Amino acid sequence: CGIVGYTGPREAYPILLKGLKRLEYRGYDSSGVALLNSNGLNVYKKKGKVAEMEEDVMGKNTHAHIGIGHTRWATHGEPSDRNAHPHLSQSGQLAMIHNGIIENYMPIKQELINKGYTFKSDTDTEVLLNFIEDIKKNNNCSLEEALRIALKRIVGAYCILLIDQHDPETIIAARKGSPLVIGIGKGEHFLASDASPIIEYTKEVVYVNDYEIAIVRPDELILKNLGNEKQSPFITKLDME
Ligand code: GLU
Repeated sequence: CGIVGYTGPREAYPILLKGLKRLEYRGYDSSGVALLNSNGLNVYKKKGKVAEMEEDVMGKNTHAHIGIGHTRWATHGEPSDRNAHPHLSQSGQLAMIHNGIIENYMPIKQELINKGYTFKSDTDTEVLLNFIEDIKKNNNCSLEEALRIALKRIVGAYCILLIDQHDPETIIAARKGSPLVIGIGKGEHFLASDASPIIEYTKEVVYVNDYEIAIVRPDELILKNLGNEKQSPFITKLDME
């Protein structure tokens, strides 16, 4: 339901937490964050309010300059800790959050189960994530390329953010039918499903279009279509009252 992301020099966790609280008005049943540092990925997620997740995380390692956060409104799988986002891929290398619904997840899930994949949640999201990982492995291609191939095969609506343990500065995002805003800072980028978590950090934003993929690093924002052609980002100035 709500999505936030950060890559840059600041500590990511406080930014994600504040952002998730700003998105609470949309309604949700669980929340979570994935934080990436030099020791790997830490995922914390919990059914209930963002404040409950926050309490759970207290005292744990949250150090990271890149991270993604989610508030979930369950569509596939009951509200629970294990169905909360972010999800980790089978290898544990990728973490993903998702707003929306993958309508044709069932045949893809069956295909992956036949290949030996196991699932830790009942969500359509984890299916898309392992589908991406499987394509990446089979084609020996970049995550970006694997995502493009996967998105051409799925039916549904999505806004997703992906991070890869082996690429610790980059968030890869994509959307179709579910909004995504990217805030442009100085040497940092903010991502969210609406501008409310971003507005206190920067007034310059890019509204990502349907069928676009964004490759987001602290100093760089690349937009591409599903044909791998670069698109020029259209920067909008947020109006501050
Ligand atoms: N379909 C996904 C799920 O049920 C995402 C729901 C959402 O948009 O929060 O986990």
